[in-house]
Amino acid sequence: MQDIPFNLADCLVQDGRPDRVEGRHVNMPIELGSTMVFDSFAEFAAARNARYESGTLYYGRYGNAATHKLEQMLAKLEGAEAITLTSSGVAAITTTLMALTRPGCHVLVADNVYGNTRGFCDGLLTQQGVEIEYFDPMIGGAISDLIRAETAAIMFESPGSGTFEMPDIRAIAAAAQSANVPTILDNTWGTPVFSQPLSWGVDIVVYSGSKYISGHSDCMLGITASNAAYAKIIRKAVMQVGDKTGGQEILLALRGLRTLKLRMEYFDKAGREMAKWFADQPKVKTVLHPALPSCPGHENWAQDFTGAAGLFGVVFHTTSESAVLRFVDALHHFGIGVSWGGYESLALPVTPVRTATEWSETGQLVRFNIGLEDLDSLKADVANALPLLDQ
Ligand SMILES: *Cc1c(COP(=O)(O)O)cnc(C)c1O
Repeated sequence: MQDIPFNLADCLVQDGRPDRVEGRHVNMPIELGSTMVFDSFAEFAAARNARYESGTLYYGRYGNAATHKLEQMLAKLEGAEAITLTSSGVAAITTTLMALTRPGCHVLVADNVYGNTRGFCDGLLTQQGVEIEYFDPMIGGAISDLIRAETAAIMFESPGSGTFEMPDIRAIAAAAQSANVPTILDNTWGTPVFSQPLSWGVDIVVYSGSKYISGHSDCMLGITASNAAYAKIIRKAVMQVGDKTGGQEILLALRGLRTLKLRMEYFDKAGREMAKWFADQPKVKTVLHPALPSCPGHENWAQDFTGAAGLFGVVFHTTSESAVLRFVDALHHFGIGVSWGGYESLALPVTPVRTATEWSETGQLVRFNIGLEDLDSLKADVANALPLLDQ
């Protein structure tokens, strides 16, 4: 049979499904279970020996048929050697960092990473004797100057959480590769629809599958996509820790993926329209959206990404925290809450934490997640609340 070339839209629809048999449902069933039984001890022993390999059916904690279908589908989408799924995005990040570090080593972490990534690095990882050094996310190839003999990993995000600086992913990956240091990129915002970080030289890409991948705010899931050099190390670490994805979450992720391209294309369009609209409002100082030139690293986004997500930051002129809290409280269409990437709009005031660089904006920052509501409704809602920023 001739090899069919990879096509993202076809993969999102056709992969991760049962083999086509007469009378079979189009979707995988939800599998619940712990024990799996074998006809002979030899078969059981073969499964036990192969338990760290994706696709092995051995025991519930190592995944079931639907887990493996999702892993294979994501491996294709990412161009990865292997995918390891975890119970949350945070678990994907922490197990990857644990797998690559040991006491006495040094890890470089971008200064704009997700709050829990910083929390784990400063907490448990430091407690285990790992030295954490934060770096300017816009450092590019000059990261070489910070790499030491004991540097065990470089962790960064595309773009930074809450502040949206887009790093030069290729330059950081190239510098790390020439020093033989693995890079871990949190690409939750970019999704495989808009970005292919493994092909840009990144070693390990992590995702919160709770965001756009599942896409409906009803699922907690983490994804680790690795190249051949790190696939086994990461998978074994996750299995040894005993982290596990639930059967229902696997199905919700598979269902979310069916519409991922459609949703991302819409969020790209809607996010840019809303970001430009915000930029035109007199009370807005600047908009932090990687597709707009006002965002640090816009040129890196333009070089590497084929689209933008619907999550961005708005810096207002006001420096008053109480004014901005009144503003978000007055919004009807935007919920106040963490997470993002679902179907619904959200607004969240953000206070950036920085230790290696300085956050120089004095204006209040709000992160907006654009959902699937009518854009005129969203604009009218914001326009109605904007006067509260004056008080
Ligand atoms: C939400 C988020 C995470 C954490 O994912 P969970 O699935 O909530 O554990 C990690 N990284 C980024 C960039 C996120 O936005």
